[in-house]
Amino acid sequence: MQKKRLVVLGAGESGVGAAILGIARGYETFVSDFGAIQPQYKTELTVRGIPFEENRHTEALIINADLVVKSPGIPEKSPVVKLLMNASIPVISEIEFAGYYTHAKTICITGSNGKTTTTLLTYDLLKRAGLKVGLAGNVGKSFAWQVAEEDFDYYVLEISSFQLDGMFDFRANVAILTNITPDHLDRYNYQMQNYTDSKFRIVRNQTESDFFIYNDDDPVIAEELAKRSLPAKKLAFSTEHTLPEGGWVEDKTMKLNVFNTIFDMTIHELALQGRHNLNNSMAAGISGMVLKLRKDDIRECLSDFQGVEHRLERFMRVHEIEFINDSKATNINSVWYALESMSTKVVWLVGGTDKGNDYSQLYDLVKEKVKAIVCIGVDNSKIIAAFKNMGIEIVESESMEEAVRSSYFLASKGDSVLLSPACASFDRFKNYEDRGRQFKEAVRNL
Ligand code: ADP
Repeated sequence: MQKKRLVVLGAGESGVGAAILGIARGYETFVSDFGAIQPQYKTELTVRGIPFEENRHTEALIINADLVVKSPGIPEKSPVVKLLMNASIPVISEIEFAGYYTHAKTICITGSNGKTTTTLLTYDLLKRAGLKVGLAGNVGKSFAWQVAEEDFDYYVLEISSFQLDGMFDFRANVAILTNITPDHLDRYNYQMQNYTDSKFRIVRNQTESDFFIYNDDDPVIAEELAKRSLPAKKLAFSTEHTLPEGGWVEDKTMKLNVFNTIFDMTIHELALQGRHNLNNSMAAGISGMVLKLRKDDIRECLSDFQGVEHRLERFMRVHEIEFINDSKATNINSVWYALESMSTKVVWLVGGTDKGNDYSQLYDLVKEKVKAIVCIGVDNSKIIAAFKNMGIEIVESESMEEAVRSSYFLASKGDSVLLSPACASFDRFKNYEDRGRQFKEAVRNL
């Protein structure tokens, strides 16, 4: 029988993983990347004898595919994807592809914010409980790669909307939806409904034996749920009201009720503080209870968990000014939570590549807490226009070093300097990690 031809577009972590799984499962596999491929990935492909090209997409080598796995970074509008769509060649994501080849149970986390934190918490929980569990998706090693080379019973997967868009038959045994607020609208024709539909693909194919864990305080989720009937068992969490089951807060205590088993823990005991993290802890805790983990393991994980770098990371004090790295805050909602959690006056570092932000949602918090704004983007005009009438000082900067020096100058003892950019980083930095590290480095050099 002739081998099926798999073409993988994009040779990053997910693409290389898909290619490795492809050859392991008998596909004639080819990898094509429109940019340069990182040396370590070239080595991985070469040692396995997987052919690849870089800096181009050769149409003749792509259009003969039976199946295409596309990196989530490649937009559906790109010429190569359009070409494949016109030729009716199936284009799927790496998560979908890996899902074909594993029977492991999946706990899948999506949402506009809180995915990584909730994913790492949940993974930590399952690992502490002694399960054979892999961590994959947008964090760590790709899902496909692990399906090819590991033997896990469970996977905790962080899934972005771009991955979800390429998922059709995949079924999440436990799906967690942290929230839905505007993000990446540039990839969704600036239509919020398109983005919401994408997030809700997480429940596609779920059955009565599966679970859907979601934020009951989120109006977008509520509105969408009113339109749908889901076969999965629904378990909600809320910081605003009590619930008969799922998760809620009462007398400064987080309460979970799953299968009529109650778990409680005071919110002071939780390792991750702040209202947003309370949501993340409840979501992870409920998934642990769904899997019937021991309460002691859940308690230990939720109280010991180490925070995640670049997420409201309080890393240093200089002359009684606290510096906080929230470089991962690339949209308005995460900045809202960051500002809400501040108990001091704030010098706010903001800006970068705007993805369609509506800054007016931050007006009340900015009025209450922000004493000065330091813009760190190349084009800051939208931010300046949004905040110029608030009577707070706004300065621009040419580099992170200059931004940190300005913020230090503008802050007084007892204040905080918060990098929470509300924007992507690509105008000036390699990625948000690079932006966060440059920030920390500049603070250390003060
Ligand atoms: P994601 O992987 O979805 O981008 P992260 O866990 O990396 O989420 O956090 C991204 C940003 O959002 C950080 O600034 C973090 O402080 C903030 N955040 C984390 N959890 C939540 C939540 N549940 N709701 C709103 N913001 C959150």
